[in-house]
Amino acid sequence: MLPRHLEGLGFDEDKDLTSGASERIDCVVIGAGIVGLAAARALALAGREVVVLEAAGAIGTGVSSRNSEVIHAGMYYPAGSLKARLCVAGNRLLRDFAGLHGVPFRMVGKLIVATDAAEEKALAGILERGLANGVDGLRAIPAAEARAMEPALHCTAALFSPATGIIDTHALMLALQGEAEEHGAVIAFRSPVTGGRVGESGVELEVGGAEPSRFLARTVIIAAGLSSCQVGRALGLPEVPADYLCKGNYFTLTGRMPFRRLVYPVPVAAGLGVHYTLDMAGRGRFGPDVEWIEREDYVVDPARCQSFYGAIRRYWPDLPDGALEPAYAGIRPKIQGPGDAARDFLVQGPKEHGVPGVVALYGIESPGLTSCLALGELVRELAA
Ligand SMILES: Cc1cc2nc3c(=O)[nH]c(=O)nc-3n(C[C@H](O)[C@H](O)[C@H](O)COP(=O)(O)OP(=O)(O)OC[C@H]3O[C@@H](n4cnc5c(N)ncnc54)[C@H](O)[C@@H]3O)c2cc1C
Repeated sequence: MLPRHLEGLGFDEDKDLTSGASERIDCVVIGAGIVGLAAARALALAGREVVVLEAAGAIGTGVSSRNSEVIHAGMYYPAGSLKARLCVAGNRLLRDFAGLHGVPFRMVGKLIVATDAAEEKALAGILERGLANGVDGLRAIPAAEARAMEPALHCTAALFSPATGIIDTHALMLALQGEAEEHGAVIAFRSPVTGGRVGESGVELEVGGAEPSRFLARTVIIAAGLSSCQVGRALGLPEVPADYLCKGNYFTLTGRMPFRRLVYPVPVAAGLGVHYTLDMAGRGRFGPDVEWIEREDYVVDPARCQSFYGAIRRYWPDLPDGALEPAYAGIRPKIQGPGDAARDFLVQGPKEHGVPGVVALYGIESPGLTSCLALGELVRELAA
């Protein structure tokens, strides 16, 4: 008998996946967030048999549903880093994919603004990185040009990035799921991976939920977002980094929207600074700030808006009192702690951790959404 969470998913009863070491799945992806779905799609398109094990009852209920929904251009990250390469490649892949699959997105463009001499120096560094990373169309513009684009803006200098946009993340995830399933991938919901071990004949996974079961997989992709390190440790993998939770709170703007483009200050430690983004419905919001936390908690403390007013008025002095309302919060899956230097995405295949058949993705914070298709391609290569 198949466990209930796999019934109706297209498995043949004769091929009972829980019956022991002789029955195995080719590829298991742990996590149906945007990265797991993109990986499942890439693997399924390559002809692999794919089962996605997802702890929740639906796709994308984790980090992927609580972010800025910005298609980043890739100017913040050190040249040659995975974040730089996958963001720049992912930006192009994402636009093509979204266009082809009718996923709503808009390349609204973004201004990164300096408000004093020290920030102007930081802007110069961002421009240099952006050019080294091959970001499309990024250029420095004088303050007057920035104000001509956005009259409500205060700045002393700016960068303009035309290759930055916004996207409907949920529609994107549905399109990834759809294409993965069209190519034979199967998603098993309410199937949390609780443990396992790497053996000679593959990776044995213990799956909890209403009907606990076991799987033997040739290849396992760990794309569990905030829980990736925990899953890596549960499988006994070496080289699993320490993990930290870094919350980002958002406030919605009531009243008239001040800008047509996205407006970012220069980045702060652990985040990109409290910036102005738009959603696909045209509503403006500010965030995310940086709040290190011990355990998952998505409540937005209204008192945090005080620091938002100060940060926003540096580049939008006319922000009216009382215009901000608590919106939502997301949590960055960090692999560096407070005060530590920023780290790159950590993608470990067999060459990196020495364990055959496992590809682990750790610290997939921003720009993970933008990079999802490029990450999917990387996973496919590492899992080959
Ligand atoms: C505040 C914030 C703003 C951001 N803004 C942007 C942005 O504007 N642009 C951008 O490019 N990126 C942005 N990001 C980054 C982006 O959102 C993430 O990189 C991306 O969503 C990560 O996707 P994921 O699939 O790795 O994780 P998730 O979406 O969290 O998916 C992981 C899945 O794994 C499941 N899971 C966990 N444990 C288990 C288990 N044991 N067994 C089975 N399933 C399990 C979870 O239920 C979840 O569905 C932002 C992130 C944050 C936090």
